[in-house]
Amino acid sequence: MKIAGRAEIGIVGGGIVGTALAVAFSQQGKSVVLWDREERPVGASIRNFGLVWPMGQSPGKLWRRALRSREKWMELSRKAGFSATENGSLHLAANELEAQVLQEFLEQPELSGFAGEIWKSDTIRDRAPGARHDAVIGGLFSPHEVTVDGREALPALWRWLAKQEGVTLLSDAAVHQIAMPAVHTAKGTWEVDRVFVATGAELRILYPDVLRASGITNCKLQMWRTPIQPDGWRLGPSLCGGLTLLHYGAFAHCPSLPTLRKNFGESHPEYIANGIHVLASQNAQGEVVLGDTHHYGLTHDPFLHESLDVLVRRYLETFAVMPDTRVLERWFGIYAKLPGATEFIAHPEPGVTIVNGLGGNGMTLSFGLAEELAQSNP
Ligand SMILES: Cc1cc2nc3c(=O)[nH]c(=O)nc-3n(C[C@H](O)[C@H](O)[C@H](O)COP(=O)(O)OP(=O)(O)OC[C@H]3O[C@@H](n4cnc5c(N)ncnc54)[C@H](O)[C@@H]3O)c2cc1C
Repeated sequence: MKIAGRAEIGIVGGGIVGTALAVAFSQQGKSVVLWDREERPVGASIRNFGLVWPMGQSPGKLWRRALRSREKWMELSRKAGFSATENGSLHLAANELEAQVLQEFLEQPELSGFAGEIWKSDTIRDRAPGARHDAVIGGLFSPHEVTVDGREALPALWRWLAKQEGVTLLSDAAVHQIAMPAVHTAKGTWEVDRVFVATGAELRILYPDVLRASGITNCKLQMWRTPIQPDGWRLGPSLCGGLTLLHYGAFAHCPSLPTLRKNFGESHPEYIANGIHVLASQNAQGEVVLGDTHHYGLTHDPFLHESLDVLVRRYLETFAVMPDTRVLERWFGIYAKLPGATEFIAHPEPGVTIVNGLGGNGMTLSFGLAEELAQSNP
């Protein structure tokens, strides 16, 4: 068999998970080959809000992993030349119960190193131009969140990685079989010491039996973006409202959360049924990215459902405002998620590691997770 090349580390998939692994191993001085089946990044990693969101993570290990990722994003934005805005986040409370959950989040004894604070509506008016200070009773500001734009950042990271010594980045190179040490790709057979399989929502080609047995599945999300806002208008911190408190692990232990969940179930049943929580982020160019919905299953229809965007917009209008609300583009993204887990790591055979299932937190956690994996022995 003719061998196209050799490397210490092979990585299948160049979304944020595979890219972060390639960065971690190349910074350790290892030789790395990364294959992606596409000519350029088009997966979940360029279809998201670009929110690096430590705030959503449970205190402890995940919080530290998110903060480490944030550091890597800032380092790489300088090295690879893409924008990363340290604008923080603002969770807005429409009523006393939502404000109570935010207060309980702040009072968690495990919360260490969190530098956020409660903002009253006059501070919101002064510091968060995109928030409806007239319609909320307060909010929790956190300075830890960063906004990137996957459409800018992923291609920049690919270009930067390809220039690093010892790194080979092969696009249009689908991997169709792994039989260690051989990795069979559309661009020939490579030999590697270890291979990482980071194929995101593609769950059917490599190790489908292992993936199927794990219970991992896919989630489809709908989003849109506005045109560049006029006159350099900025949103301020990235914004969300009460529905987001139901969504992230960070609030799971707040004593008032079950009541909030029950209330939303009664007042907003269609939002709960469609997994809607609403986030607003703004990229460096000035476009505002808005969404989203969550529908789980292996196979998804390719259609965007206008009725869902109407629901998102209706909720958005309860806490956010911006000069230009027109839609520039709509799209959906699909990510893999293992219900009840923050990631899926498996070793289906010696030398092979599957890294997947980061769900809605891949931009937030991948760099930290990749470093942990690069430091651990197989
Ligand atoms: C709408 C939406 C909004 C989100 N918002 C956020 C957010 O604001 N913050 C956050 O932290 N997370 C967010 N996420 C989650 C985050 O985007 C994902 O967790 C992350 O992008 C998953 O990265 P990945 O590398 O696993 O997948 P992908 O980015 O999909 O990459 C997988 C790659 O593998 C390649 N591939 C697949 N099979 C093969 C093969 N056989 N051979 C070669 N290549 C292959 C694909 O071409 C693809 O490039 C969001 C996700 C979506 C969809």
